[in-house]
Amino acid sequence: MIESLFRPALSRMQPYAPGEQAAPGKTIKLNTNENPYPPAPEVVKAIQEAASGPLNRYPDPVATSFRRAAADALGLPGPEWILAGNGSDEILTILVRGFVGEGQHLRLPYPSYILYRTLADIQGAAWQQTPFENDWKLPAAFGENEDDLRLVLLPNPNSPSGTLVPKNEVASIADSLDCPLIVDEAYVDFANENCLDLVQENERVLVTRTLSKSYGLAGMRFGFLVAQPHVVAELSKIKDSYNCDAISIAAATAAVSSQDWLSDIVAKLNATRGRMETRLTEMGFAVTPSHANFVWCQHPDGNHQSRYEYLKKNQILVRYMSFPDWGDGLRISVGTDDQIDACLMMLERFS
Ligand code: PMP
Repeated sequence: MIESLFRPALSRMQPYAPGEQAAPGKTIKLNTNENPYPPAPEVVKAIQEAASGPLNRYPDPVATSFRRAAADALGLPGPEWILAGNGSDEILTILVRGFVGEGQHLRLPYPSYILYRTLADIQGAAWQQTPFENDWKLPAAFGENEDDLRLVLLPNPNSPSGTLVPKNEVASIADSLDCPLIVDEAYVDFANENCLDLVQENERVLVTRTLSKSYGLAGMRFGFLVAQPHVVAELSKIKDSYNCDAISIAAATAAVSSQDWLSDIVAKLNATRGRMETRLTEMGFAVTPSHANFVWCQHPDGNHQSRYEYLKKNQILVRYMSFPDWGDGLRISVGTDDQIDACLMMLERFS
């Protein structure tokens, strides 16, 4: 029986469950925080050019064009501060593999991004969840050292809450920890602060970014790490030889070079987010002010799962999330104005 031949850590673990795919047709998909708008026209052009390029050849193993363009766009000293990956999930995998071994553990806040637990499970490592305090503040325990604590992960802005831990607090957590602090900035383009400066000040601060959200490239799979050059060099040993394909490298390079497009899309989505927050509040929801491209809301009647099902029946897909010992609610991605109007109208009709 092959079952007994798998590593015990694998047999024990639960798989990570990504958000549902939408049924073909006219479903309004607001459940996985994708961008409802297409990427910049330059990106589409770059994809077309790359697709007619020499696809019989392997791509650049270290995505040089992307790293140059990203270093430029983000004001980093150079491309050696960046490691490109097949989505930021791959970067997170590389980080957990690089820092956390069997019998050791990582820490994450609760509730937050469930994938970190899966990555620890794969390693045969343990995870420890530190609950957020009221108002989504991090307790002092989040920055405390412990034997065998090898990595601390902080999604900032957090998911599902959309809340942001201010940079000065992130800096003091990093200073108090002996292990690396990963600041997962998947949603940071929708916020008004980021932690890139901290990477230059402290070699134990590592920032991850994605092109799946603000840049509208979830279908391409591209993410990256920002870390000091010696950290990037060490972690590069773990990545697959050709972890990013030629088409996505071209697309990602064009995307980070289109910062004006990015600002326009972010401004548009943030305006829609503001409207969502106001109307959901008027409907009686407790709405957590968001710094991301989604809104976390809870209704005092507690009927979140039935609202999710009712919306789904009406071809609107949002995320129902339930966290043991904590509570549940709806996480609704910011869509186009029309999509959000349809979703809000349905929620108003729910009884
Ligand atoms: N970090 C967080 C907090 C996320 O919510 C997501 C999206 N599921 C990711 C990372 C991964 O993004 P991707 O792999 O698409 O870059």
